[in-house]
Amino acid sequence: MIGDTIAAISTPPGEGAIGIVRLSGPEAIVITEKIFRAAKNKDWSRQNFKLVYGYIYSPETKNVIDEVLVGIMRAPYSYTKEDVVEINCHGGALPLRKILELVLNLGARLAEPGEFTKRAFLNGRLDLIQAESIIDIIRASTDDAMRLAVGQLSGGLSDKITAIQQQLLQITALIEANIDFPEEDVDEYNLTDIKLQVEQIMQEIKKLLENAETGKIYREGLRTVIIGKPNVGKSSLLNVLLKENRAIVTDIPGTTRDLIEEVINIGGIPLKIIDTAGIRETEDVIEKIGVQKTRESIKAADFIIMVFDALDGINEIDNEIIKLVQPKKGVKVLNKIDLQEQENPSLKEQLKIILPDWPLVDISALEERNIEKLEQEIVNMVTRGQVIPGDGIMVSNVRHKNQLVKALQHLTDVRDAIEQGMSLDLIAVDIRGAWEAVSEINGTAVTEHIVDKIFADFCIGK
Ligand code: GDP
Ligand code: ZN
Repeated sequence: MIGDTIAAISTPPGEGAIGIVRLSGPEAIVITEKIFRAAKNKDWSRQNFKLVYGYIYSPETKNVIDEVLVGIMRAPYSYTKEDVVEINCHGGALPLRKILELVLNLGARLAEPGEFTKRAFLNGRLDLIQAESIIDIIRASTDDAMRLAVGQLSGGLSDKITAIQQQLLQITALIEANIDFPEEDVDEYNLTDIKLQVEQIMQEIKKLLENAETGKIYREGLRTVIIGKPNVGKSSLLNVLLKENRAIVTDIPGTTRDLIEEVINIGGIPLKIIDTAGIRETEDVIEKIGVQKTRESIKAADFIIMVFDALDGINEIDNEIIKLVQPKKGVKVLNKIDLQEQENPSLKEQLKIILPDWPLVDISALEERNIEKLEQEIVNMVTRGQVIPGDGIMVSNVRHKNQLVKALQHLTDVRDAIEQGMSLDLIAVDIRGAWEAVSEINGTAVTEHIVDKIFADFCIGK
């Protein structure tokens, strides 16, 4: 247990039907007893998992502050594994703030961002993967992103990581047995066996890394730029895509709202359209803001939708843009096909040659033709056929991915060391390194600094 009692307003700012002040820690119930009068149930503070109706009053003036429902969840069966009290009051700024003030005056400390969840982690209720998934659930902008996060909360990835840790520990035990009995020759069989096991773990890690890129896109969204010369139909396309697919987005602290304006749900993938300001204006990005700005937004993008004009064909502005987007992934869109009397084969041929790895889709933004085809093409490109597995086991967090890459490096070193007949001590160091890298994922071995950094990203009251 961590000692002090923390408190915070756990509902978002603004007006709501109810608001919740949450307390967690050894004093949570005692503090509540000093400011709460139950309407009927005098024995309320001995309850567990019941909502009790009554009033919060000021212990000094005895004036009633609000009518509330109080919920008590006793340790260890609570979110934090500590005594937790949730005071459900009316959802206005004043009742919430007054109640929070009362509990702070009575000795609770204002919780830091994410501190409730941090306690849940430190008290062993959740591992680090699960704790991180909670923020992913809160911020999910598509159903699929949410399914992925819920899968991680229920422990799918955690189980995989724990299994890898176990295997690494077994290998360590095997190696240490050999180091501890130096008079006996190193057992050839054991080394071959160790190598096999190491390769098996490497295989598993590689499998997890295989779809990590897709997982990341579900979690973080794909930063996308719609680009093209003036009047090709960028705004029209954006509007068509938004019409049915506008994703629900929450404000994420630290992101600039003017850069990322819209999130479109394309087959479960959150497409973050950057530079919508440029798209939306009548004057276009290239002309008005200039090449430099365009260059920057292209650089910041993971994915480009480049729009061409079926009637105008390709001109120098197109060629300028093509040079800029060349290194990126993207899709070519031939817009305004409704204006064509018939297909223009030479334009099609030209389009095939430029940006050859990008698929080409003919559309009419005006008549909303082939929009689904375009969406399907985007999904195919982004996921390369990888969908979120039913068990939700997919690495989506870059932190996890980086740790897996580190572990894999250590294991590669182990394998090489065995092949080169290096000493067991050296091999043990890298096995240990792999274990540490993996253990930082679920938090079994992690520095306080990293933990603080992860939870600082949460909102207060969570
Ligand atoms: P932007 O400058 O690239 O954003 O282009 P806009 O979306 O503002 O479109 C420029 C003009 O082209 C507008 O008059 C649109 O109505 C028209 N337009 C856009 N898409 C199509 C299309 O598919 N077919 C036709 N016929 N006109 C289109
Ligand atoms: Zn426009």
